[in-house]
Amino acid sequence: MLDILRRIIQDINATRDLNEALGLIVTEVKAAIHTDVCSVYMSDYDRGEHVLMATDGLRPGAVGKVRLKLGQGLIGLAASRAEPVNVENAPAHPAFRYIAATGEAPFHGFIGVPIIRRRKVLGVLAAQQREQRKYTADEEAFLVTLAAQLAGCINQAEIRQALDWLDRLDGDALAGTLFLEGVASARGLAIGEAVVVFPAAELNRVPDKDIDDPEAEASRFRQAVAAELAELQRLSDRMRLLLAAGDRALFDAYALLLGSDSLVNGTLDRIYAGNWAPGALRATVLEYANIFTEMDDPYLRERAADILDLGQRLLNRLQEAQAINRHYPDHTILMGDEISVSQLLDVPTEKLKGLVAVRGTDTSHVALLARGLGIPAVFGVSNLPSGRLNGREVAVDGYTVRVCIQPSPALRQEYLKLIAEEAELSLGLQHLRDLPAETPDGHRLELHANSGLFADIAAARDSGVQGVGLYRSELHFFLRDHFPGEEEQATLYTRVLRMMDPHPVVLRTLDIGGDKPLPYFPIDEQNPYLGWRGIRISLDQPDLFKTQLRAMLRAGTAYPNLSILLPMIGSIGELSEALELLRSAQTELAEDGVPVRTPRVGIMVEVPSAVYQIEKLIRMVDFASVGSNDLTQYLLAVDRNNDRVAKLYDSLHPVVLAAIDHVVEQVRAAGRPISVCGEMAGDPAGALLLMAMGVDSLSMNLGSLLKIKWLIRSVRYDEAQALLAEVTNLDSAAAIRDRANAFLDQHGLSGLLRVGK
Ligand code: PEP
Ligand code: MG
Repeated sequence: MLDILRRIIQDINATRDLNEALGLIVTEVKAAIHTDVCSVYMSDYDRGEHVLMATDGLRPGAVGKVRLKLGQGLIGLAASRAEPVNVENAPAHPAFRYIAATGEAPFHGFIGVPIIRRRKVLGVLAAQQREQRKYTADEEAFLVTLAAQLAGCINQAEIRQALDWLDRLDGDALAGTLFLEGVASARGLAIGEAVVVFPAAELNRVPDKDIDDPEAEASRFRQAVAAELAELQRLSDRMRLLLAAGDRALFDAYALLLGSDSLVNGTLDRIYAGNWAPGALRATVLEYANIFTEMDDPYLRERAADILDLGQRLLNRLQEAQAINRHYPDHTILMGDEISVSQLLDVPTEKLKGLVAVRGTDTSHVALLARGLGIPAVFGVSNLPSGRLNGREVAVDGYTVRVCIQPSPALRQEYLKLIAEEAELSLGLQHLRDLPAETPDGHRLELHANSGLFADIAAARDSGVQGVGLYRSELHFFLRDHFPGEEEQATLYTRVLRMMDPHPVVLRTLDIGGDKPLPYFPIDEQNPYLGWRGIRISLDQPDLFKTQLRAMLRAGTAYPNLSILLPMIGSIGELSEALELLRSAQTELAEDGVPVRTPRVGIMVEVPSAVYQIEKLIRMVDFASVGSNDLTQYLLAVDRNNDRVAKLYDSLHPVVLAAIDHVVEQVRAAGRPISVCGEMAGDPAGALLLMAMGVDSLSMNLGSLLKIKWLIRSVRYDEAQALLAEVTNLDSAAAIRDRANAFLDQHGLSGLLRVGK
């Protein structure tokens, strides 16, 4: 049975539309379980009916015509119970309905299995037999398994069908029907033209191919090299504004490699020997990469990866369809299975309006980069048919985490209106720039920015932000091909502190692992969020940790605005060890004659165990910052990047609120400041409740900052506290969110609500 099941699923995947897929299923299932009839009924909830969509065994003319009211007949019974109905003699069953149009009078044996996707009954897969027949437990299990697989396939098939419609329609008839959901986003709205970037061609899979005209092939290759050199120069220049010199060094190294004769001449020799350019390139690149791989010096050994990467870029160039050098329309929505940082940076900033990708999560570095740069994005759109979307109009809605392909004129108008309203709101809030975040009854909070790049630090400074509450140091580690050394890091952190001076900057030590493995430090784990992550890696690799601490401390010698934040602290032992390593880094520096100051040190409260030991932990440090993103996922046992459970993830869950409330109370009782730096701080309902709890500061993406300031300046503290007291009695995140949003609405803050969840 398993083999048959596999084959059917494979066959379904190869079909082009829903009808073809269903037709194939009924035929294959009928044969597999040796029955007289197999049919699929789909649920049409708008019309309140189950519709016969495919059959093998009933009259073909009945397809699309036979319609049963929801809940009617044995089909309706299987759907409403959401479980299989298996009866030996159907006409004797009280729920049986005779439908003449199907020509089914003589059938007795019946089995109906619901097709369910995410709790919704999409339809029923049914089999019938002329004679009385009770389908066996194995047959029932086969149909149940098939129906479960089918649920996923139907969705794919529907999308393909919708796209076929898109191909045919003359513009508007069916447009706007195709919404695709993602799992992660950068907030904001955008509308523009899709520019699809393809995954890089795989260099080591390129075949050899004979050519007739080596001269033409050589010239094609030379052009690719020249174009790549120009490209690298352009990228390096663009990155100057965004990245430190160390981060850009990679591009300079590539340019050097291209300038050297060996790689280029080696390829040309092979071309003149009769191989086509991609094959000649592959052979040459692999030959050189191997030479480096064999070297003793670890640094030189690592250059093999650079050579391979460069080879890949050249190959992309050679393959015109995958060339990086493309035309970008004024309103570009960059789209692809996976978008790399360099693909993102390749688009002129003023033209890049949005991002959409199959892969990518809330914390993937391209998502963090998008947020840092204020570009709306939707990631994790698992059924994105990117291959067919180039040039189409696309709306990106980072608030509802949805993408709308080719919106209808009415929808398009709606998006444009919302985008204009957003821009207006932002403009209208500019006057708050230099005003304090203070409620009408005099309660004041500090609002800080989350950051991780020079670009967003500069933007934060220029918008009058009073500090950086979370600097994710790992972002710089992602943008290079090896761990940066102490010198390099010290220069980087000094620049960050100088840019914000005299405002405080909270530098967080490396938080890699989880879903954020570094390309050059792969961690392969079954359960990465519960694995080697954050401080756990730092403590196990004291060399890396101390290098980073020394670099931070050195930056702090010139700029006293430094605070150090330790991520993922889960126990007193971990914190003691981390503090011990910090002390020894200080001692070493002092011994080296570097005049170190003692920085303020804080912990992230994002692991549930820290919530319940906060009383002790907080006395060991100067401040605490709640990481609501991780705290929510760990308290609710919901992977923050998994679309199957995304609906369960909400930081307004009463348990999360209670945990944060407890932390705030304990930290304040210890006389230390408490901040929140997860996404909740920039969510209006979240910020409102956090303020009511008495947090001292909120740190968020720059884009949310003035909106949250507006909120704070519009709501009395005592009213917010009353709201908090009221919602803590509610049972669910949804009820709390509804109540908080209604409160915001009553206070004239409905303009903020699109900013929230
Ligand atoms: C958090 O967990 O809330 C947080 C701010 O850290 P990160 O999102 O980087 O894990
Ligand atoms: Mg975290």
